[in-house]
This record gives sequence, structure tokens and C-alpha cells, in this order.
Amino acid sequence: MADQRSPRRILVTGGAGFIGSSFVRHLLDDRYPGLEKAEVVVYDALTYSGNRANLEPVARSPRLTFVHGDIRDVALLDRTVPGVDAVVHFAAESHVDRSVRDASPFVETNVLGTQRLLDAALRAGVSRFVHVSTDEVYGSIDHGSWTEDRPLEPNSPYAASKAGSDLLARSFHRTHGLHVSITRCSNNYGPYHFPEKLIPLFLTNLIDGAHVPLYGTGENVRDWLHVDDHTRGIALVLLRGRAGEIYNIGGGTELSNRELTTLLLDATGRDWSYVDAVEDRKGHDLRYSVDWSKIHDELGYSPEIPFERGLAEVVSWYRERRDWWEPLRHRAILT
Ligand code: NAD
Repeated sequence: MADQRSPRRILVTGGAGFIGSSFVRHLLDDRYPGLEKAEVVVYDALTYSGNRANLEPVARSPRLTFVHGDIRDVALLDRTVPGVDAVVHFAAESHVDRSVRDASPFVETNVLGTQRLLDAALRAGVSRFVHVSTDEVYGSIDHGSWTEDRPLEPNSPYAASKAGSDLLARSFHRTHGLHVSITRCSNNYGPYHFPEKLIPLFLTNLIDGAHVPLYGTGENVRDWLHVDDHTRGIALVLLRGRAGEIYNIGGGTELSNRELTTLLLDATGRDWSYVDAVEDRKGHDLRYSVDWSKIHDELGYSPEIPFERGLAEVVSWYRERRDWWEPLRHRAILT
């Protein structure tokens, strides 16, 4: 049930990407109690990872407007942001390996773009701003889990640029009183995941009988959360998150890359002869793990999709949706 504070018109930056499009599809499908009937303005530059096909299931919704634009474009922001009452900010350069090769687009979009978006939101007087950050801002943790008050020690240029935008978002609350909430989520998997990231890269290669590259010894551990659980958590933060607060989102399944590779080989009927050990990623974080008790206790969030079921569905999705991923493969190759 919508209450007085429920936003009626929401600007979603990066809404044509993997996670942003999950949020938009579910919102327009009225899956988020309190956000029924809200209008959505997707604002997306359609970089190599942005794809309007990710929004195809809701493309004909009268509540959806698409703006092809860059978050660094101040003039376009000033024409688009006035009239929206909430911003959910997903747009980012998101691939660690690309940031190792060239950090410039990461600083440009993640830091400068976020500052311009925050400024535009302030000028337009939006009532809520949710900044989608990542657990990678904390660095790497051998044992235990990070709570939201842990210092940020990002290791990759991607994580450092996300930490910069995360701190800028916080500062706009502390300095200007903008109603900003920040989410820091663990690794996502799900449908519409661009085939440069581990799970979709491995799946699409293995389905085609091609080899997959495993970094180092494969001992790096990640907490895998279904994208739809992540975006449901974001909807809760948008509706009821407190201003100036940070919410970790996690609760997936911790797996080493070697364990995950075994599951993907089993799911596609391949064996370890399809796996090539490659030189480890520079500065590769060993383990991520967030403590998500705050969002659980405050907003009633818990993940709903068990990893085994979620992964099986994703494997089927990639088997059935070659039409979606095949045209993207050439864009996924790092040169
Ligand atoms: P993605 O690369 O699939 O999508 C990013 C989207 O942002 C694309 O649609 C792209 O076109 C758009 N974009 C990029 N630069 C832009 C710019 N300058 N102006 C406007 N739009 C631009 O990434 P994703 O995996 O969906 O990640 C979305 C957000 O979630 C990011 O902020 C990321 O840091 C964060 N996050 C991701 C994960 C994960 O596991 N993928 C986990 C936690 C947090």
C-alpha cells in the first residue's frame, strides 16, 4: 500500500544495465509494495553494457520513459531531473578488469558523473536519492563480515571510484541535507547479466563448448546474491531507508571461484579440461562478506531465492536466450 512518502516518479540511472533493469522490470510489474503505479524515467547512456533489450518485457508500459543520456551531461540532467521525486542511481562503469586496464572512465562516470547527478538532484529538490554502491568499497576480508561502519579500503580502481561516489553521496546528505541512502551489495547473478562477468561468461562459453579462464588458483571467495533479491532490497531502502544511512545487502551463498566453476561445469555437462588457469587479476581481493543484519532488522529484508534454484534458472535462461547474449559477445571482449 502506497503511503504519503511513496515516490510517484522515479529517475533510474543505469536502468538499461543488468541490475537497474531488474529494478525497473519489477517496479513496472508492481512487485514492490508501496511503489505500485509509480512512473519510471530510465536515464542511461547505453554504453557497451547498457542494452534496451533488458527492458523489453516492460517496453510498452505507459509508465516508462527512456532518456538516452549521460550522467555527466549537466544540461540534460537539468532538463530531466525536475519533476521526479526520487532518484535511484545505478549508472556506473562496473567491470573491475576494465578498471585495471584504464581507470579514466571509472573516475569520469562513477565519481564525476555521480557528483553532477547529486548536484542536479539538489537543484531540483528531489525528496529521495538512493545511491547503489558495492561491498567492494570495503576491500577484502579474510574472516568475519563487514558492518556498515567499517572503514573503506578499496583495492581496485573500480572499487576506489565507487568509494569516491559513495562518500560524495554521503557528503550531500551531511552538507546539504539531501535525503540520501546508500546500499552496498555483494556479487549479483541473474538473467540479463552482461557476458563479460564470471557467471555469464563461463556459461555462454561452456554452452558453446569453449574454454573458460579461471584466475590464479580460484580460491577467491564471493557471496552470490540473486539480482532480484538485491533490487527488492533497494526498493525497501527507497521507501523506508533513513537519510544518511548505509545498508549492506547480502545473504547469498559464499563460494570460491573454484567451487562456482565446478557448479557451472556440472550444469553444462563439461569437465575441468574446459578450464584454463590464467594469471591472477592484479590486486585480486581474496574474500568479500557483508553483515546484512541492519537492513534485515530495520527494513525486514531477507533474500528469498536459494542459490541452487536461482543458478538452475539462470542456466536455463542462458540456454534459451542465445538471441539476447550472442549479439553482445563481441562487446564483451577486452582489447
Ligand atoms: P552494468 O554495467 O550492467 O550497467 C551499468 C549501466 O549504466 C549500463 O546500462 C550503462 O549504459 C549505464 N551507464 C554507464 N555509464 C553511464 C553514464 N556515464 N551515464 C549514464 N549511464 C551510464 O552494471 P550492473 O552490474 O548493473 O551494476 C549497476 C550498479 O550496481 C553499479 O553502480 C555497480 O557498481 C553496482 N553493483 C553491482 C554489483 C554486481 O554484482 N554487478 C554488486 C553491487 C553493486
